[in-house]
Parts: sequence; structure tokens; C-alpha cells
Amino acid sequence: MKILLVEDDPAIADSLRDGLTREGYQVTLARTGEAALAADSADVVLLDLGLPDLDGRAVCRRLREHSNVPIIVVTARSAEIDRVELLELGADDYLVKPFGFRELVARIRAVLRRAGSVDVPVTETTVGQLHIDHRAHEVTFRGSPVDLTPREFDLLAHLAADPGAVCSRDQVMHDVWDEHWWGSTKTLDVHLASLRKKLAPEVFETVRGVGIRLVADPK
Ligand code: CA
Repeated sequence: MKILLVEDDPAIADSLRDGLTREGYQVTLARTGEAALAADSADVVLLDLGLPDLDGRAVCRRLREHSNVPIIVVTARSAEIDRVELLELGADDYLVKPFGFRELVARIRAVLRRAGSVDVPVTETTVGQLHIDHRAHEVTFRGSPVDLTPREFDLLAHLAADPGAVCSRDQVMHDVWDEHWWGSTKTLDVHLASLRKKLAPEVFETVRGVGIRLVADPK
């Protein structure tokens, strides 16, 4: 699956490109509107509205003139977003910065599904007594449903993707919150404490000086 990433901010662009590449997507980066319009066709376009040369809205409209590619618009928090206008321009979905990386991946999968593309990767994860249904956003542990906030869900899903492996705090912040756009690692501690309470304390291990992990076989 090819993603055309249209983003002029180098920090955000690099972070997204690395993350999406790790997810298995083939990422082409365009740093200007003109570069985006000149790029090869992609399966999905991630379009920042604030570009140095052209207005992102104009880029969206011109892409739509010759392509049905799903377009996800990304806007800064401060920017005015007119949802109706975005839909009229042909955008399929939009995200407001700051957003979590998991949320972005979920949106990408959703627009690809709606577009009838075949990319529907992991839908369920089972690790020991823990079961995660990614599509329904549902978690069960020891046979009982667990009610999680979206961010707790993202954090759990991230750790469960590689059970037993220690994830550095920075990497988790980067993948689940995106360090460039979101606060301190205290946020991580708060969410982890909440997950421990809702599941069981022993499901997660803190490895001092290294990071955190989900145990390989939670019972
Ligand atoms: Ca920008």
C-alpha cells in the first residue's frame, strides 16, 4: 500500500514516514503542494492543509479532479476547519493535530476499507488471557470485557503487538502519542497506571532504565 504524505514540517514528516514505514506502508513524501500534484499515484493521500506554496484545499481539489484516491486531511489545531468545505473539496476524512499515531493508522485503514482496497492487516490480537479486537475496539481479559479509553486502548494495542519485548518510553510516546505534538511522559505513567488497575498490575512490567513491556503470557 502506497501513501503519499504531503507535509512540510520536517519533524512531523519524518516521524510519520518512519512510523508508517514500520506499519508496512510504502511512503512517498511531498513537502509542497506542487510536489504532491506531481507525485505518482498512491493508495491514500495524507494531506497537511498548511503548505508553503499552495493552499492545501486547492491541492485537495486538484487531486480530486483526476483521482478517486482516498484523501485524509490533516489540520493544525488552531486552524479553522470547515467540515462541509472539506467534504465538498473531496476529502474523505480529517484529523486535527495533535493526534495519536494509532488513530492515524486506524483512519488510514478505514478509508482504505471504504475504498474497497484489500489492506486490512491485524484485526485481532490474543496474548495469553488478553484478547484485543482492533476493529471493534474491544478488549477482554480473563474472559471479561474491559472498558478502556481510546488512548488506553492504543497503548495496550501497541504493547500487545510485541508481547514480552521491552519498549522504551520514548518509543511508546512517539508511537502512541507522537512526541512532537504531545506532552510529557508523565502522561504515559498515568495511562499505564490506569491499565494496570483495569487489567491486572502484573500484566505490565517496568524495566528500570529501559522501558515497559506487556508480559509474554498474561494470566
Ligand atoms: Ca504545514
